[in-house]
Amino acid sequence: MTSQTTAASPAHSRVPSREQIRRAPKVLLHDHLDGGLRPGTIVDLAREQGYENLPESDADKLGTWFREAADSGSLERYLETFAHTCAVMQTKEALKRVAAECAEDLAEDGVVYAEIRYAPEQHLEQGLTLEEVVEAVNDGFREGERRAKENGHRIRVGALLTAMRHAARALEIAELANRYRDLGVVGFDIAGAEAGHPPTRHLDAFEYLKRENNHFTIHAGEAFGLPSIWQALQWCGADRLGHGVRIIDDIKVAADGSVQLGRLASYVRDKRIPLEMCPSSNLQTGAAASYADHPIGLLRKLHFRATVNTDNRLMSGTSMSREFEHLVDAFGYTLDDLQWFSVNAMKSAFIPFDERLAMINDVIKPGYAELKAEWLFRQTASTSGSVAE
Ligand SMILES: [Zn+2]
Repeated sequence: MTSQTTAASPAHSRVPSREQIRRAPKVLLHDHLDGGLRPGTIVDLAREQGYENLPESDADKLGTWFREAADSGSLERYLETFAHTCAVMQTKEALKRVAAECAEDLAEDGVVYAEIRYAPEQHLEQGLTLEEVVEAVNDGFREGERRAKENGHRIRVGALLTAMRHAARALEIAELANRYRDLGVVGFDIAGAEAGHPPTRHLDAFEYLKRENNHFTIHAGEAFGLPSIWQALQWCGADRLGHGVRIIDDIKVAADGSVQLGRLASYVRDKRIPLEMCPSSNLQTGAAASYADHPIGLLRKLHFRATVNTDNRLMSGTSMSREFEHLVDAFGYTLDDLQWFSVNAMKSAFIPFDERLAMINDVIKPGYAELKAEWLFRQTASTSGSVAE
């Protein structure tokens, strides 16, 4: 009786398997290039370049070290992880290799479209120019897309150029992003510690990008609360919010389940402002206590433009599939929910509208339809099989 009930429920209402999650077409908008290296590549590059400060020389142990350091709750140790990855990303060859492997790894995980961000100013220690950094990373992404295709996967990768909040090069990086627009760079971002470094310090960069009709996202509302989100939107004019989890502070849920949105939360929902949510990363930084407590559950129910992202795959030991798995486990999400997140993300990408639409209609929706159909046919086959027995 129980199994009959299960068989009768529509395929799209069931919890997807790990394998289905991996094959589902996924879209990634928030992922840092220097937070996603393969541990083995860090070991190789360190050896080639004579970098001797790695805490471990064995790839597996090094991978564990990165996750533990990020998990430690110590900001110092967390920042140390990026010091090591950036240290081995100072030559054209290294940047190209890291970017190519990034595209390959994402494609292998079922990601069909990704916007990967990095701060060019952090890769100049050995004499590269900003332009050389951008071109090396672009070459790497194209190489990774080619290799993915050879392995039967399809992925398109765009770059976001990040400026650091504490530095004073935001306008220069914004101009760089504009120069390489349509040449592999799709937008601009600002990152780094929120406290003490308001994005309004970089208004000239945002105003420049707006005058150029260009796109940008701002890391806001992760560690810092609503004022940070408000500034990013209403002073800087961000197209998307990096994280934005603290928007939850402007939403009141009453004991009877009724929900009241404050002015800012209403604005974010009404204007369909995309939230680049990164559940595992938020758990590590303490922005959420557990997956089940993560604001994404409520925001999804309230139909905010929520998207799911990885932030730093190496430090969080994660992937897009892993993020979806955590959410499926916490909230019982179905393939329909995963499709909703993927379509949301694709709608929010910085590439032109017609290209986004083509990705949604020709890649994402058919991909999910195929998974649902497979399931349906397998179910029909097993049901008719049991009848025959
Ligand atoms: Zn980030």
